Amino acid sequence: MPPRHSWTFWVACGAVFALGHAIDAWPPQRPPRASQLAISRATRALVVAPHPDDEMLAAAGLMQRVHTAGGAVRVVYLTDGDGYPEGVETEDHIAAPTPDDYRGYGRRRRREARAALEALKVGDYAFTFLSFPDGGLSRLMTKYWSERRAAYRSPYTRLDRPPRSEMIVPDTEYRGEDLTQELAQIIAGFRPTTIVVPRKEDQHPDHCAAWFFVADALGDVQRVHPDRQIDLLNYIVHFDGWPFEAEAPQLPPPPGLRGGVSGWMLFSLTAGELRAKRAALQKHESQMHVMSWFLNAFARENEVFSRPAHPHVSLPFRRSPCD
Ligand SMILES: [Zn+2]
Repeated sequence: MPPRHSWTFWVACGAVFALGHAIDAWPPQRPPRASQLAISRATRALVVAPHPDDEMLAAAGLMQRVHTAGGAVRVVYLTDGDGYPEGVETEDHIAAPTPDDYRGYGRRRRREARAALEALKVGDYAFTFLSFPDGGLSRLMTKYWSERRAAYRSPYTRLDRPPRSEMIVPDTEYRGEDLTQELAQIIAGFRPTTIVVPRKEDQHPDHCAAWFFVADALGDVQRVHPDRQIDLLNYIVHFDGWPFEAEAPQLPPPPGLRGGVSGWMLFSLTAGELRAKRAALQKHESQMHVMSWFLNAFARENEVFSRPAHPHVSLPFRRSPCD
């Protein structure tokens, strides 16, 4: 019989492998500090927004800087932001929205997102709406992962799949593995050098789930293209009462949350970038109507990013870490 190694041997092997992997693959060197966020004409930034407006709150300045440098920007919206009863009630002056009302609200938010990107003047911007279920992403990582059960159905729109016009992978339904596949196709096709994506600590379950889906898709892409180096930048939108003190010109990082492997990176906007960010945020009219104070709190002299450790995520999960 071959000798059996003890568990400590395998743990040690795992540690050596993990260390080697970290050194070889991620990050390539010590992460640059805030002021050294390298942006050039070679930059291809993929911004992942769980809902329309997240891209502007988090990265309107960064997107402009990439465009000005001659790089490429693409935004992928995971949901249309349609699962928002208070928003629909405010916008349409109705007490009990129907599935049609929610779908109409989603179309409105998509129009607003396009108008906001236009206002930002980032040139031939590209965007993709995946139209996955608002408020449902976290459950797609667990119960609604595969074809073994019926797809998730939005309690708002009553849809269980994106419109055919928005499908990147044919026959996509509201299942986790379908979302991972769509994201992997986008990443493989766009070839981003940077992916801007929420942190897993974001307290909105869709934002947290966005991180895990991107990390899962990235694993798929890097299995096929191990040579591709992609810089992951995290942003955060929902964390306790942050961001408060909107009257302060600078946006500080959320207290009580560490800045990942990079430390917090405060990305300064020029006066022109800030003006354009404000103008773009105004285009998210429906959101301005319900929470202008929250949106405006992000329109400050800097944006806040951090870099994560190299993710090793393999979905599905038995229990969602996001709820
Ligand atoms: Zn959001």
